[in-house]
Amino acid sequence: MSFQEFSEFLSRLEKTASRNEITQILAELFKKADAREIDKICYLVLGRVAPNYEGLEFQLAEKMVARAIALAYKVDIEKVTEQYKKAGDLGDVASALANSKVKIQKSKLSVGQVFELLKEIALESGKDSQERKLTKMANLLSRIDPLSAKYVTRIPTGKLRLGFSDMTILDALSVLEKGDKSARKQIEAAFSVTADIGKIAQKVKVGGLEGIRRIRAEPGIPIRCALAERLASAEKIAEKMGSKFAVEPKFDGFRTQIHLWPHSANASRGKEVRIFSRNLENVTHMFPEIVSAVKKLPVESAIFDSESIAYNPATQKLLPFQDTVQRKRKHGIEQAVIDIPLKSFVFDILYLDGETLLDRPFFERRKQLEKILGKSDTRTIVLTDQEIISNAEDLRSKVDEYLKQGLEGAMVKKLDVAYQPGGRGFHWVKFKRHTENTKGEESKVTDTIDTVLMGAYAGRGKRSTFGIGGVLIGVPGGDGKYYSLTNLGTGLTDEQFREMFKIVEKLKVDKQPFEYTVDKITKPDIWVRPKVVLEVLADEITPSPRHTVGYSLRFPRLIRVRDDKNPEQATSVHEIKELYKMQTGK
Ligand code: AMP
Repeated sequence: MSFQEFSEFLSRLEKTASRNEITQILAELFKKADAREIDKICYLVLGRVAPNYEGLEFQLAEKMVARAIALAYKVDIEKVTEQYKKAGDLGDVASALANSKVKIQKSKLSVGQVFELLKEIALESGKDSQERKLTKMANLLSRIDPLSAKYVTRIPTGKLRLGFSDMTILDALSVLEKGDKSARKQIEAAFSVTADIGKIAQKVKVGGLEGIRRIRAEPGIPIRCALAERLASAEKIAEKMGSKFAVEPKFDGFRTQIHLWPHSANASRGKEVRIFSRNLENVTHMFPEIVSAVKKLPVESAIFDSESIAYNPATQKLLPFQDTVQRKRKHGIEQAVIDIPLKSFVFDILYLDGETLLDRPFFERRKQLEKILGKSDTRTIVLTDQEIISNAEDLRSKVDEYLKQGLEGAMVKKLDVAYQPGGRGFHWVKFKRHTENTKGEESKVTDTIDTVLMGAYAGRGKRSTFGIGGVLIGVPGGDGKYYSLTNLGTGLTDEQFREMFKIVEKLKVDKQPFEYTVDKITKPDIWVRPKVVLEVLADEITPSPRHTVGYSLRFPRLIRVRDDKNPEQATSVHEIKELYKMQTGK
């Protein structure tokens, strides 16, 4: 497919906000694409030039792209800047200039060719790489038609926001195969064990639904994380779990999925390690001590599921999340490893020496883990404590013990079930500080709620010194939309106000994002694009006509910004309804 034809699809996608229509257009695009290019098409429509988990970023500032445009179309940079000020989008500027320079000889580049050229630009690194990126970008722009130039410009600047994610692509693949969304579940199951959207699309294109049935986990490609459910009391948890179940401490750190495998090209170069976060980003660079510790384990290849948390090397005590989060940085990692070392508490194993363990029951996976980690002498990779219990009383006393140690609570796990990639289910139930009050009575809201920042209200009085007077937060509906849940104002400390102001400044947009469903009376003064997840705790969930979820929160307080979650992974509208039911005991 030529990039020009692909751009026509992008143009159609850009013009619609309807998820159904987007799905149909994508299915049509996939039908026209051939098997060698469909993977690249998937990455490109998401604004990327590699699977998301590779974390390949362009590192090319808008200013540089503006210079590339000037160079490509032989105009002064001032002219580009001036047009940019008027149009507000560099893609439109490039497109207009390409149009006026009809003399330029255009060759019809294919999607695959443009993809490779863009990838080359992203891969340039080191000394003078900015200049090399710029020259390559200019060269590419000078070879393509105006419409293609518009989208090629938007990709490196991160402005190709078409308003859908991997999940819509899965729907479109189902439409491609079945004409409707009936195969989505099956395709999603394959994506859950190999979260590479391009690879999944290619398998579907080549072998249909049969092609994806054979997909197995592979070290190096992330598996979507299993998630936990909530229940209102120790009794309810024990009842759901059956006669015997496992209880483990719940650590409050980073989810770390650790992959280890022999260097594919050259075995003498030892082992490769990749670490993925909860939202499947490649975060290997943040944890050099985990990388070296995992290489010492007595295994050839493995995928571990773990939680990594900072500790004080002098006392060996685990530290709160605020300290662990300090490890999230791009620079100064070496020093951070010394100042804030981490331990990875491994609680599951999903793959071992060439074989997937995903379908094995948990107690068997745990035995494998004990065998491997029991022998290891690393202080960084640690086997998570576990106890097998059978009733609510024992559960409560374990939870008390964990809370006294300063932990977040307990994870309760069924013993005879397979790992559930990407799924929240009753195979794991979390028991946090708020699940019960101190008297063992069910608390009203049994968990913190992860919400999405949607907008902000202008500050008045004292709060005007912070720049904003409160924020509007909401949750995803699972239909590509976000619904408002509550205003958060009095529940913010001064420090949090300042932090919110910075985030709002960075993410504000001119108009209400099309995926927001908000009532007139709760409209904020400033809109923010869906990006940041805020964890809040409330006293109660109450029905509310003002907020489009249909419920609101009483006394919401901000616990923290959760930058390990995507907006789509925040608590859903459905979960809010479930939490409300739990609270009212229905
Ligand atoms: P939540 O984020 O509140 O839904 O709780 C689930 C999270 O708890 C998981 O994503 C893990 O990051 C974390 N976690 C901490 N300890 C454990 C454990 N022992 N087993 C599983 N998950 C754990």
